[in-house]
Amino acid sequence: MADAIHDYIRSQQKDDPNYKRTMGHFRSSEMGFCERQIIATFNIPEEYDATRAGYNVTGNVVEDFVRKVIESKAKDLELDYIIPQHNIIWNIDWEEGTEVRGKADFLMLLKDKAGTQKHLVEVKSARSIEHIKEPMKHHRIQVMPYILEIQPTTTSIVYIDKNNLNNVKEFFVEFDDMIMGYIHEKAKRLHGFQMRGETPFAEAKYCPKCRSGKLKVDHTARPKTATCQPPGCGQTMKLDDTDLWQCGYCGVKDWCDKLERLKEKELVQIEQPAKN
Ligand code: SF4
Repeated sequence: MADAIHDYIRSQQKDDPNYKRTMGHFRSSEMGFCERQIIATFNIPEEYDATRAGYNVTGNVVEDFVRKVIESKAKDLELDYIIPQHNIIWNIDWEEGTEVRGKADFLMLLKDKAGTQKHLVEVKSARSIEHIKEPMKHHRIQVMPYILEIQPTTTSIVYIDKNNLNNVKEFFVEFDDMIMGYIHEKAKRLHGFQMRGETPFAEAKYCPKCRSGKLKVDHTARPKTATCQPPGCGQTMKLDDTDLWQCGYCGVKDWCDKLERLKEKELVQIEQPAKN
């Protein structure tokens, strides 16, 4: 039976070795991630990872559970219908072919006396939701293009504990122009890197405020802090307010670390005073 489960999970993965992403087409779900990591996914074929595949399938199971819950409540909610997996395409630049695509999890059409209300639900399953006190930054970023394209009346991000489906947290999210501007600029910048054949900087390792100083973590502080190093702004911030955590889950970490070491070596060589 164990083998049958492993085989089934393996068969669910879309890991066609010939699959190539189209340059300039970005995923809404990745727009909160490190620039270098995003660009790397276009060039480095993803290898099958049984652990990650297992988590993905659990995520699908949780979504299926939510769909059943919504259907069971359809009458109480005066639910007209549910559109699962609602696709969106947001054109950032027609001429250059830059766009952001995504799949919103559930769009519920609720009928009330005032007319039809649209409620958009994005479901996130996690190993633990204890620490989640507000919607995570990259999830808020992910849903913004959905809100822009679908124009729902309300939107919520629902976190569900994979270990106990009774552990649920729901946060309502409003449209935010600043976030849309951030995605717009980022998509254009990323596409620019691709067209020039450049590798973006290791965004997650750098200060989110000035983007020029690398972060140094103080593991003894409680909560842990990160300080922006010269030539950056020198600010100290909570480690949780940075994107450094992404490096721990990054599929191209070894390659990125090597690149950073090379870069540092080159800088040291440039900075060395000439011998006379
Ligand atoms: S290791 Fe960190 S900085 Fe480097 S690409 Fe991955 S997420 Fe970005």
